[in-house]
Amino acid sequence: MHLRQLAPEVWVGISAAWQTTHTICGRGGALVIDGPILPGEVAALAMHARPDVLIATHADWDHLLAPLAFPNADRRAGRATIARLGDEHDQIAEELAAWDRAHGGRPRGLPDWRLATQLDAPAVCGSPVGPLQIFPTSGHTHDGIAVLLSGPEILVAGDYLSPCEIPSVGPGAACADYLASLGRLEHMMHQARCVVPGHGWPIDAVRARTVLAEDRRYLEALADGAAPPLPRHAAAAPQQAQHRANLIVATGA
Ligand SMILES: [Zn+2]
Repeated sequence: MHLRQLAPEVWVGISAAWQTTHTICGRGGALVIDGPILPGEVAALAMHARPDVLIATHADWDHLLAPLAFPNADRRAGRATIARLGDEHDQIAEELAAWDRAHGGRPRGLPDWRLATQLDAPAVCGSPVGPLQIFPTSGHTHDGIAVLLSGPEILVAGDYLSPCEIPSVGPGAACADYLASLGRLEHMMHQARCVVPGHGWPIDAVRARTVLAEDRRYLEALADGAAPPLPRHAAAAPQQAQHRANLIVATGA
């Protein structure tokens, strides 16, 4: 697993699967946001950090595995994430098990976040690394949150603003939700010098504003019923597949 230091006490790790990120904050790694995917990466994280607190940005399984390394750490998630897991835990657990089977691994149990401490959004809350500003971000899924680390001025965006993926508008969400979230993220970026996307290496504020503008243009066109060009990586088959899925969500077809 690769780690990159963003500030004296903030590191980002990136998984070999989907470039899913996790953010390690504080002396001794007191707070971990999201988590790695591969079993070896989970084991490596257990060597790097001693968190008191884990936060999940949303309930997609690839963001929920940090408790496999730290089963006793306090779990915190947005109210909507906990509610979604109340409805969909078994289905999300099966998605993880299917992924493990497909990749030759022993199926792992999904850590249970249903009794996690609820985070309100929007809200400011304390943490082992100082105040966190929490904002709701629906659109990719309906349950997302973004976390602004006020001290080091780092925005952990969840599955938005990825330099390696195009927007993913979730089934049941809407382009309007996603656009509203981009507006909130833009506002939060005034206080951030760096953005950690859910997938891909962190980007500086200038690059993040470019990604945001590209995604906004793309989603506004989708919302208008157009079939816009992909905002980036147009030749990549997975992004073309995501684009087709977005068109289906946008048109309700
Ligand atoms: Zn996701």
